[in-house]
Amino acid sequence: MGTGMCETHGDRARVGRCLVCLREVCAECATFEVGRGVACGPCGEAEIARAPRSGMMAVGLVALGYLAVVAIGVGLFKGRPLVVGVAALFAVFLSRILPLRPSLGRVDIRRRGGGP
Ligand SMILES: [Zn+2]
Ligand SMILES: [Zn+2]
Repeated sequence: MGTGMCETHGDRARVGRCLVCLREVCAECATFEVGRGVACGPCGEAEIARAPRSGMMAVGLVALGYLAVVAIGVGLFKGRPLVVGVAALFAVFLSRILPLRPSLGRVDIRRRGGGP
């Protein structure tokens, strides 16, 4: 940390820090641009591969959590209207805590260097 060098290539000056794994990267290692930052090759590939799917998964998990709470609530409280409200709150709560991992989930990630 703070050597001013790439963590993979100790003899190359760093150009930034990977936004995902937080390693210092040189121009070669900073394969991806993420907004004004950079990401290394493996992290960039992973982010691109995961981004659309993780979004869908989060939605699915929230829906599943909601249904589970409704099911439990109906079982325990014989389907009082209150249960649906509690389940809705739970779903909102779940959707807030879901991005636990520092996954960027960003759409503005792109390969540097341009051109095919
Ligand atoms: Zn990385
Ligand atoms: Zn490097």
